[in-house]
Amino acid sequence: MKILVQKFGGTSVADLEAMKHVLSKVQHGLEKNDKVIVVLSARAGETNKLLALAGQWSATPNKAECDCLVSTGEQVSIALFSMLLNDAGISARSLLSWQIPIRTNDDFGNARIMEIDRDVLMKQLELYDVLVVAGFQGVTEDGRITTLGRGGSDTSAVALAAALDSSECEIYTDVDGVYTTDPNICSAARKMDCVSYEEMLEMASMGAKVLHIRSVEFAKKYKVPVRVRSTFSEDAGTLVTQEDASMEAVLVSGIAYDKDQARVTLRNLPDVPGTAAAVFGPLSEKGVLVDMILQNTSQDGHTDITFTVSRKDLQATLAIMNEIADKIGASEILHDLSVAKVSAIGVGMRNHSGVAARAFTALTQEGINILMISTSEIKITILIQEKYVELAVRILHDTFGLDWDIA
Ligand code: ADP
Ligand code: ASP
Ligand code: MG
Repeated sequence: MKILVQKFGGTSVADLEAMKHVLSKVQHGLEKNDKVIVVLSARAGETNKLLALAGQWSATPNKAECDCLVSTGEQVSIALFSMLLNDAGISARSLLSWQIPIRTNDDFGNARIMEIDRDVLMKQLELYDVLVVAGFQGVTEDGRITTLGRGGSDTSAVALAAALDSSECEIYTDVDGVYTTDPNICSAARKMDCVSYEEMLEMASMGAKVLHIRSVEFAKKYKVPVRVRSTFSEDAGTLVTQEDASMEAVLVSGIAYDKDQARVTLRNLPDVPGTAAAVFGPLSEKGVLVDMILQNTSQDGHTDITFTVSRKDLQATLAIMNEIADKIGASEILHDLSVAKVSAIGVGMRNHSGVAARAFTALTQEGINILMISTSEIKITILIQEKYVELAVRILHDTFGLDWDIA
């Protein structure tokens, strides 16, 4: 049985007009496949509204109840779209995560998919041509509803595609595919026909929200070809797949940015073994993810440590740092919310030197000060003042020959 998984994001299901475009994509899907699994997000803006509602009711909303609340946005979408399918004469039904079930751990708000019951889906596929599944949500062993983190419907879709050996997983959104950078901030951005799992992983983890990072991890692990395309055009989109030789020929394939950064500096720490562990241990115990880290060279036996965290974790981070300040001997704790990071990504970097120098020179020429740097085999990340982010993206895009009129 040939099964196709198609996922549609918030703007694709925003209203009846948009859902009619979705209907036509599903009809096309059915022409070339025996069955289609449709995964839907909440209608645009809905998840934000529900989160705001939780915030009105409670300053510290219970995480499990918060998931029970915010997951309802997807329930609305799948019920409405199933009605459209039925009216179009297509046999279809909606499915919530607990009805399958899509099992997750109990990390509410950021749960991980552990298992999907394939048998239930296969039985339902004997009865219906299309199953309309709620994205973003799962259920714990104890029967509690979870959510997979913002943008998590992509992960629901790829996980279902992996579980059902789907020929491809189509991710429909409001842009024509994966671009060399966010097309909404850089008009010279070019759509890529193909991008490797590795590059897409780095782009997603560096802030390109076009795909949820865990969806790319799943796709890579289970070798699911993912095609990102638009609900509102006929463009073939971008195929996310295994790396091949032609991809290596390109030095930098994309630029990503992330404004969700807060910088914390601990001043005058004693430069002795155990200091870093004393700083980062308590953060990891409280589930705070630290992103970039910089330790200055020692002066008179003392040093500064600077690191970045997500803005939502800043208050928790400062509370922990204040608690341990005496123990670790920090003279001052500083923080800055006006920073952001910009990254250049490309598998071609593996075999070329000088990429970082080119990036630094280009930014310096425009007077952009570099606050922190981190590199990996296929990525250079630079922390800068937030006000320069869009400029920095455009400069790097141009520097590495990505502008569409140069290629
Ligand atoms: P959906 O609601 O369909 O899941 P998202 O808003 O999550 O859509 O993701 C699509 C958005 O991702 C685009 O509108 C675009 O602004 C943004 N984006 C960021 N980086 C990129 C990129 N490199 N290529 C394409 N889109 C990108
Ligand atoms: N509705 C959820 C969100 O807005 C999940 C998704 O759209 O992928 O984050
Ligand atoms: Mg998304």
